[in-house]
Amino acid sequence: MNICVIGSGYVGLVTGSCLADSGNNVICLDIDKDKVLSLQKGEIGIYEPGLANLVERNAKENRLSFTTDYKSSIENSEIIFLAVPTPPNEDGSADLQYIEKASLELANYVNNYKIIVTKSTVPVGTTNLVKTLIKSKTKQEFDVASNPEFLKEGSAINDFMFPDRIVIGVDSTQAEKKLKELYEPFMRKEFRLVVVDIKSSELSKYASNAMLATRISFINEVANLCEKVGADIESVRKIMSEDKRIGKHFIFPGLGYGGSCFPKDVKSLIDIGKQNLVDMTVCSSVDKVNSNQRRIFIDKIKNYFGKIQGKRFAVWGLSFKPNTDDIREAPSIDIIRDLISEGAHINAHDPVASTNFKQLFNENIKFYSDSYDILDGSDALIINTEWSQYKQPDFSKIKKLLKNPVIFDGRNLYNKEKLLELGFFYSNVGFYPKDDK
Ligand code: NAD
Repeated sequence: MNICVIGSGYVGLVTGSCLADSGNNVICLDIDKDKVLSLQKGEIGIYEPGLANLVERNAKENRLSFTTDYKSSIENSEIIFLAVPTPPNEDGSADLQYIEKASLELANYVNNYKIIVTKSTVPVGTTNLVKTLIKSKTKQEFDVASNPEFLKEGSAINDFMFPDRIVIGVDSTQAEKKLKELYEPFMRKEFRLVVVDIKSSELSKYASNAMLATRISFINEVANLCEKVGADIESVRKIMSEDKRIGKHFIFPGLGYGGSCFPKDVKSLIDIGKQNLVDMTVCSSVDKVNSNQRRIFIDKIKNYFGKIQGKRFAVWGLSFKPNTDDIREAPSIDIIRDLISEGAHINAHDPVASTNFKQLFNENIKFYSDSYDILDGSDALIINTEWSQYKQPDFSKIKKLLKNPVIFDGRNLYNKEKLLELGFFYSNVGFYPKDDK
């Protein structure tokens, strides 16, 4: 099939290259000229395991190309995906300007029957808005559909190729038939295609993300309680996860969720509730707990040191989660910003996210490529992201290099008894040594 994917970011590029890999002709369209030029040279500009190879191979075999030209890409495509951003407005509602602009622009070039699919995460009613906007500019026949994306950055290709489910929201049998056909190659192992109405499809994405965010905020709240009552969050978590009704996923205490999806999707769901006079009490609390979680961590560091002015902190991890260079809404941003504003100096290490971080911070922060070099003379080690390479470090080396043997672990990577035995001051999420300073 001939496919156009509008927006060549994390979702658009993965969607485009995976659909090309199953034999389709895909053109990825973006308004960012520099991005398109880089993509045409084979530089993907983001860190996503396996993506560069997939893009390179499919481009070489002429199934995948990149352009800024709406006319030729729309005219030559039968299915058009919208994978543009839907960032939050100040009031938490989704900003639909990118969806609206792309819809109005593509409408100029609808020359025969097309299916326009919202792949972006959009509020209920947006796919129908896309339909109205396109209809206002063309007399040609077309259908719209919703096909929310559930991939996770860091394992995006695997998630796209072997999805837990593919959701298609349609109101036409022609669009349903075509989209089922498109996704057939991804259903060979297991049939996981769910066909629903458009509104249910749109809402299913928000509800899924909000549910996962709820688990994260819930376990963080329990961890905070553990710290106060002297219970061990690791033991509590393990016991909870043995219950099959609860399960093992998404109940790890930490600095709260970040990234470009959970924070905005929870906020947007609260707004969708507000628009429809439904008080989204759970989601509002989930959001509040999440913002507090960073504050609580920062306060523990401040409480330990008293004065932050002139302190040097070694920071492991900048991305919002491992295996990505995405720093959008990363807890590290709030933590580092706060410490720098109080006069601290930061030595930072991240396997791939430093380049993105440099665009936000350039004063009082130094970036290193070796995770141990940053410890030399630092007052404490702060862990923001659970990259694999931080999980089993050489503690004697850490102790020797740090000015003080102090670790604030925002991801609960280490065994606290072991660290205390080794002579560290060790605090994590749910634990702060009571009798020490
Ligand atoms: P992104 O910011 O990485 O990429 C979006 C791209 O769209 C950019 O390259 C931008 O230049 C381009 N763009 C903007 N307006 C355009 C226009 N009018 N025409 C052509 N291109 C245009 O965003 P993303 O992370 O890929 O997210 C896209 C959507 O997918 C969002 O709604 C997001 O919520 C959703 N989503 C994201 C993820 C994720 O993990 N990133 C997962 C699932 C769903």
